[in-house]
Amino acid sequence: MNRDKFFINGDWVDPAGNDTLAVISPATEEVIAKVPDATTTDVDRAVAAARAAFDTGPWPQMSPAERADVMATISGLLQARYEEIAQTISEEMGSPISFSVMGQVFAATMVLDYYTGLAREYAFEERRPGVLGPTLVRREGVGVVGAIVPWNVPLFVTMLKLAPALASGSTVVLKPAPETPLNAYLLAEVVKEAGLPAGVLNIVQAGREVGEHIVTHPDVDKISFTGSTVAGKKIAALCGAQLKRCTLELGGKSAAIILDDADLSTTIAGLMPNALMNNGEACVAQTRILASRSRYAEVVDALAAAVAGSKVGEPLDPETVVGPLFASRQRDRVEGYIAKGKEEGARLVVGGGRPAGFDKGWYVEPTLFADVTNQMTIAQEEIFGPVLVAIPYDDVDDAVAIANDSDYGLSGSVWTSDPQSGVDIARRVRTGTYGINGMGMDFSSPFGGFKQSGVGRELGPEGLEGFLESKTIVLPAGFEPA
Ligand code: NAD
Repeated sequence: MNRDKFFINGDWVDPAGNDTLAVISPATEEVIAKVPDATTTDVDRAVAAARAAFDTGPWPQMSPAERADVMATISGLLQARYEEIAQTISEEMGSPISFSVMGQVFAATMVLDYYTGLAREYAFEERRPGVLGPTLVRREGVGVVGAIVPWNVPLFVTMLKLAPALASGSTVVLKPAPETPLNAYLLAEVVKEAGLPAGVLNIVQAGREVGEHIVTHPDVDKISFTGSTVAGKKIAALCGAQLKRCTLELGGKSAAIILDDADLSTTIAGLMPNALMNNGEACVAQTRILASRSRYAEVVDALAAAVAGSKVGEPLDPETVVGPLFASRQRDRVEGYIAKGKEEGARLVVGGGRPAGFDKGWYVEPTLFADVTNQMTIAQEEIFGPVLVAIPYDDVDDAVAIANDSDYGLSGSVWTSDPQSGVDIARRVRTGTYGINGMGMDFSSPFGGFKQSGVGRELGPEGLEGFLESKTIVLPAGFEPA
């Protein structure tokens, strides 16, 4: 799986420097591939290619329907290679293969398909009668986009940016996380085969310092970033200094509220895949589980059984529910939070250690803490591992207050036999997405964060509008433009 080039201007080009990034298997701790580590010179080349493709290339001038045809071809080619891509991502970052197929690959192509459809029907130009006189309102591609993505759902997050950027007529410089560069090589092969014009997508594998060079590059018009809140604040400050457009999708600490009328067995069955999603390395993971005091013991018992029964295994084993964490430092971080939970007086109900039977790999047992108060560190900070906390509430108002008592506001859910009470609660929780008896995400509707979970929205028409600039052309009275 070794690679020695970057994908720039529609071609495979030699790196400017000699440094490499090692891709390490989270399951075996062995180096499985090496790729070049981009320098600022490589970024400059990638940005120049994207700039030229936007300023003088065919892509922004093509009709949205023509762009949609290329996007549909890319989707078809990705789907045809789904097994290879899913396996590559599982090998890079430890995602269970059952999740990788749907959550990493098909979720990405569904997003691409959604924007392919939207490109065909979106009103990129609109005539308005006006107050002072008639206008033509255009929505044009924002220009050169710097797309900076994390390691946890690399292709899916890439597509949240790439698909609307392509639909808008913009061009892209993509920087994958240094730990997960391989899936982006497969994407590059696909876009080349699909005939995407040169320079529309350029990919530089690099770490954060070189990433900052993309953020501050004067020829980049917009940054679309997904990652940690700490990095998001730094990137927002850098963009602010240049008044550069920027969208930030950051962390989360979502609360699942179990109401007293919920059927517990269907609730736990529905909740667990959302709580331990992607080894717990998911920004939307429902990791704070809120149960009323009257049912608290019963809920904790049911959760304990489900967490203890979540099979830990190798990423490529189809039976695996929880695989290894993506990096040694992530295991240290998660173990640090487990220690902190015990220290602050939470009751460890299940897990807390390393699973038996694994000599290698960055595995952590699926873990449940009970008797957690919302002030504890493990209830406030994003752990990004398979660690759940169960918090008791007094009544529905208290549950909503606990859900809202967070710096984050990305996602949440409520579990109930009465969907109307679910909607009533959803209206009161300050998060960007919300689920009733399920996951709160749909590709045709906006996704993003309140509070420190981000700025701006992805998905839906709102996600496209993040890559558009509006332009008003005031027309002479009585004139009808072609
Ligand atoms: P991270 O912030 O460390 O890195 C994310 C990406 O940004 C990487 O490519 C990294 O190299 C790059 N980067 C970091 N600092 C940078 C800088 N100053 N300039 C330019 N690039 C920089 O995050 P991570 O640990 O890779 O990802 C995990 C985080 O991502 C979690 O907090 C998670 O919640 C969040 N996340 C959010 C969403 C969402 O949609 N809200 C989705 C997935 C992950």
